[in-house]
Amino acid sequence: MVVMTNKFIVYSVTPYDPAGHRLRVTLQVPAPTPEGQELFMPAWIPGSYLIRDFARQVETIRASSRGQAIGIRKTGNHTWRCDPCAGPLDVEYTVYAWDLSVRSAHVDETHAFFNGTSVFLGVSGQTDQPCRVQLNPPPHTGNWKVYTSMPLATGHPDAAQRHGFGLYQAPDYDALVDHPIEMGTPQVISFTAHGALHEMVFTGVAPNLDLERIAADTKRICEAQIALFEPDTLDVPFLDSSDRYVFMTMVTGDGYGGLEHRASTALMTSRHDLPVRGRDNAGKGYQDFLGLVSHEYFHTWNVKRIKPAVFAPYTLTQENFTELLWVFEGFTSYYDELMLLRSGVITEEDYLTRLGKVIAHVERGPGRLKQSVADSSFDAWTRFYKQDENSPNALVSYYTKGSLVALGLDITIRQASDNQRSLDDVMRLMWQRYGRDFYRGNSQNGVAEDDMPALIHEATGVDVADFIARYAYGCDDIPLQQLLAARGITLERKSATDTPDLGIRTRANGQHLSIATAYENGAAHRAGLSAGDTLVAIEGLRVTDTTSMNRVLSMWQPGDTVQVHVFRRDELRSFDVTLDAPAVDQVVLTRKSSNETQ
Ligand SMILES: [Zn+2]
Repeated sequence: MVVMTNKFIVYSVTPYDPAGHRLRVTLQVPAPTPEGQELFMPAWIPGSYLIRDFARQVETIRASSRGQAIGIRKTGNHTWRCDPCAGPLDVEYTVYAWDLSVRSAHVDETHAFFNGTSVFLGVSGQTDQPCRVQLNPPPHTGNWKVYTSMPLATGHPDAAQRHGFGLYQAPDYDALVDHPIEMGTPQVISFTAHGALHEMVFTGVAPNLDLERIAADTKRICEAQIALFEPDTLDVPFLDSSDRYVFMTMVTGDGYGGLEHRASTALMTSRHDLPVRGRDNAGKGYQDFLGLVSHEYFHTWNVKRIKPAVFAPYTLTQENFTELLWVFEGFTSYYDELMLLRSGVITEEDYLTRLGKVIAHVERGPGRLKQSVADSSFDAWTRFYKQDENSPNALVSYYTKGSLVALGLDITIRQASDNQRSLDDVMRLMWQRYGRDFYRGNSQNGVAEDDMPALIHEATGVDVADFIARYAYGCDDIPLQQLLAARGITLERKSATDTPDLGIRTRANGQHLSIATAYENGAAHRAGLSAGDTLVAIEGLRVTDTTSMNRVLSMWQPGDTVQVHVFRRDELRSFDVTLDAPAVDQVVLTRKSSNETQ
């Protein structure tokens, strides 16, 4: 197909005011609708299921055609309408960009990072048109470069200059907003995984960063995942969109998070979790970072190409409801850890320790008995993404419990098929059917809401309909002890301490310790204590932090009743609390020695 050059919707982006955190964006629509073109800003960013109203960061906007100003006005939270015009429509606007997260945009004198969903106005009715973006440097900064998986526009003079400012290109709006862009002077390392180029970009202060170690470990994780989905060809999934995959990491003091894209990911991590040169021991924080890397990379297949049908395509101006995030986030959370183990970047002992923590975390929340992971997925927009003090009592995480559903399915399939089939076969079938040609084919199909039992049966011959009904669409606890025992792993539930339990989560604020959550039916809840109460004293002894609280509690036994003073708002109140046995907050998984297993 020949695409007419004048059909390109052309943008430019300039970080013109880094100190004020502002981007200037221009948009040219060559053939606006004669009735008056509507423009929209996405209300949310795929991968993060919350209405974020990115349009509210648009500060100024004006429209013109052939040099003549024309009217433009807001028609809704996320939409504008321009007055009718015959010729090309030009729009110029400024965007405030000061959100240090992977989800929107952040600009200062050191760098600019932005997602297209925060920056590029969509042209209603023309989202299938090809787009070009002229990326401009900020004033007074000569040494910034550009890092993105978005391809340079072919034939443009800058095409030979990788990482240069200049003209970039995307085949449609959906692609345009799925290649986040970093500009600045980051630390960069690249490697190939099964022959394909991968870049790792680290922005922010990270002295002595051991880039070579991070790249070597990431390469192993990537190669393990590629081998899972394409064991015969070892083809990477992203060449339909880019010549490379880019890990864009923002390094901060204590951040953690990631967001997946079709040929890149935006990550945020603490510098203290990253390895430094000359030190062998990187610790648990580094495992967490590699787990994040593994998670987002796995999404390149699972959710960026294998998608719920309702995400094919996304509707960016309103919520897209699906019950399937237990598959797209839960299975991804199962495999992110499993791939650390399979690639050899962590030991089996590390893997079991990390899995035990997930199980303990899920089992600590009474909300798991009220909400299924399918319901948690559907309600993500208003509940999982809007958590409050009662969330542990009311919600379950489709990430953590979803990963345990995946574990349970994997073991069930392996047992029922005499180890001939596994969840890997399910992932491969979904990849072949929905994912592999998603951005190549003409019809973009996704997984229908109730497809999973049939898909798993087709891939493995194992009927898991009851399992899914009970543990994904119902609230039953997965029988992990029996399932893991069949794999030669013992599961033991323990308490980390012998301190009697108040049944609360706490939050430290300055000199005070307050109740973040009173677990339903816990000692505090039964006595009338509440989230938000500031602990003052237990049996007349002052409590200021968890250490002083646990010291006092350890003087008592389960079943003893103690007087607890708290401030509720500015009112001093007293409660008689009957203490519970130490909380079961640890799950220890151990592989039985080989002569104990068959
Ligand atoms: Zn995810």
